[in-house]
Parts: sequence; structure tokens; C-alpha cells
Amino acid sequence: MTNAVQDIKSLQLEELGEKLRELGEPSYRSRQIADWLYKRRVESFENMTDLPHKLHGQLAKLFVFDRLKPVRVLGSRDSTRKFLFRLADGNLIESVLIPASAALYGQKSDRRTICISTQVGCAYGCKFCASGLEGFSRNLRANEIVDQIIAVERESGEKIDNVVFMGMGEPLANLQNVMRAIQIINAAWGLGIGARHITVSTSGLAPQVKKLAEESLQIRLAVSLHGATDEVRNQIMPINRRYNIEMLLSACDYYVARKKQRLTFEYILIARVNDADDQANLLAQHARRLSAKVNLIPYNTVEGLEWSRPSRTRQEKFLSILRARGVAATLRHEKGHDINAACGQLRLQTKREDVASSSRRRRHRQDVRVTI
Ligand code: SAH
Ligand code: SF4
Repeated sequence: MTNAVQDIKSLQLEELGEKLRELGEPSYRSRQIADWLYKRRVESFENMTDLPHKLHGQLAKLFVFDRLKPVRVLGSRDSTRKFLFRLADGNLIESVLIPASAALYGQKSDRRTICISTQVGCAYGCKFCASGLEGFSRNLRANEIVDQIIAVERESGEKIDNVVFMGMGEPLANLQNVMRAIQIINAAWGLGIGARHITVSTSGLAPQVKKLAEESLQIRLAVSLHGATDEVRNQIMPINRRYNIEMLLSACDYYVARKKQRLTFEYILIARVNDADDQANLLAQHARRLSAKVNLIPYNTVEGLEWSRPSRTRQEKFLSILRARGVAATLRHEKGHDINAACGQLRLQTKREDVASSSRRRRHRQDVRVTI
């Protein structure tokens, strides 16, 4: 780590301890500060009332203390709620709070799940996804990832016990910051969420899947497959031209062997693109090779994109083919369908409204000029 001003919530406990030692402080201070940050959740150094006054000033010189600002919240208490946050530099990101539901990624049901973002936008440009539509702006830093959980707990009053990295962005393209954040989310001195309740989702960055396999934490992996052949995947996911299905599956073989863990295939069902019987048969083959589970997700319509979800009968048929071949598969009934819950949709909508209202303002100014 450099000495440049960084956010205090990007640090591991040992790194914080090292900084404090350099300042001549006793070693128990790092625990004290972590407690203020992650347990009592204060939002300034001055509020850490049991620290010496002098240390407040020293910490404020070394670290920044950013906070996510809620811009919009959609949804109600007993359904999926979607939060749009503004970062310190003005960029917008979104997080989704999903109430208790059936087991999705192998964990027990009855959990409050948060779906968090890892990047502003996404560079991978999947054809069906709102996050990819406007390109990539930047990686999120570890504190901006951790802060989504803190901010959603603060805004909702709920305790989150399950984290999925399925919001905006490709987590494995920001692996260093994502792992740093996961360590803080998991640590007993941090947010204390068990590794098995943390799921990272990837669109298929095969070499990074292997890297993730080397991590010691037993976090879960979900792979967004969305097509069982290169032909279908190439059509909707540009990443497949770099790492084709066989490269991806063999990285998954490595992951499974190394971690001794079952992974999940995510498969969005898109009408007439990937919902044919032969795709289901091949998907079953891939899943059996890896003993993977399959989550089928009916496509969530994105404004401006032509894709749609198959009929309920087609969805059920696809599911039944998988099951008949002995694959553990579920068909997810998207809870947030009505509130643009798929990743990137709320942000896109808000940005479009901003653009629309500023062009309305511009038009209005022109009208005024004309009438003068
Ligand atoms: N970049 C990672 C994680 C974020 S996307 C990935 O692609 O896995 C999280 C999940 O949301 C992915 O499975 C993605 O394919 C899915 N998704 C994106 N747009 C969607 C939409 N319109 N309807 C349903 N699921 C969508
Ligand atoms: Fe990026 Fe995932 Fe959306 Fe693809 S699906 S554009 S990888 S966020």
C-alpha cells in the first residue's frame, strides 16, 4: 500500500496496526478503531470518543472517511429494495437488498441477501445487460464495496447475512479490491459474515477463476453461463471470444478440484436465444461434469434492448430437461422484476432521466430565448 491518502475502510487490521505503530500508538488501538468502524459504525474520527484527541487529527491527515450517499430507493420493506448511491467522486452505483427466500447458492434459506456492485459500469458488454450498456468507468475500491453493506444496513435497519457479488461490474476484473473487501466483510473484526455466505459471480474470466481457486477463503463461485455452446455464447457475451466454453469449463474443473466445492451456473433464459431443448441438454452435460447446480433466471427486460423472457411453459420445460438428467436446478422467479432489479438498470434509468431533464431544461432555455 502507498502512503497516498486512502479510505480507512480499505485497510486490513494488520495494516491499520502498522500505521498506528508508526504513530507510536499501542497495538490495541487498531482493534478499537475497527470496532468504531464496523461495529458501532461512526462516520468521523472525532466520534471515536475513546481515542486520544491528538490521534483524531493524525488519522484525519492519513486517511479519508467517505460515505455513500443514498440517491434513490425503490421497493418496499417486504420485497426487494434497490438502492442507488452516489460515490465521493459523483459516480452512481447500485445495491439490491433481497429479503428471505429459498436457498439460491447453497446456503440455508431465510437469509437477507445483498447484491453489491464492484465497478462503475462494466467493460464486458454482454448484449442483454444494462450495466454493460454505457461502458466502463472505473473499479470500485475496497471501502466502496464494503460501504454498500454498511449503507444498506443503515438505510434499511436490516441485518444482512448473505452477500452476492452480482451487481454492476465484473468482480474478477477487479480481483484485488474485491478480495480486500471480502476479507473485511468476512473478518471477525470487520462485518463478520461467513465465507460460505459470500458468492462471487463471473461472466467467465477463466484465468481469474484459477486465481480465485488459490484463495484460502471458502467463498462460493457462480458462473454466468447463459449459453451451452460457443455459438450461443458468442452471440450474447463478447468475453466468450477470448475464453471459450471449454477454456472456462476447464478453469472451473480446476476450481472445483482445488476448493472441493460445488459451484453454480447462472443461466438467464432469453426467448429464442438460449432456451431451446438442445441448449438444456448440453447445459446438463456441463453441469454434470462439474457437479454444478444450475440457477435459471427468466430474463428481466431492459429498456432499449430487444430481448425478452420465454413463456412460463418454455421455462418449465427447460427446467424439466435439466432435472430429468439429474441436475440440481432451480427456476428463480425474479423478485425485483417490477423495480428494475437486474444489475445496472436503476442507474441507467436515473442517468437517462437526468439526461432527459437536462435536455428539457436546455429546450426550456431556448424557448425563453426565442420568446424574448
Ligand atoms: N459480471 C458478473 C456479475 C454481475 S452480473 C457476471 O456477469 O456474472 C450478475 C448477474 O445478473 C449475471 O448472471 C448477469 O448475467 C445477470 N443479468 C444481467 N442482466 C440481466 C437481466 N436483464 N435479467 C436477468 N439477469 C441479468
Ligand atoms: Fe458485465 Fe456481468 Fe453485465 Fe456482462 S452480465 S455486462 S459481465 S455486469
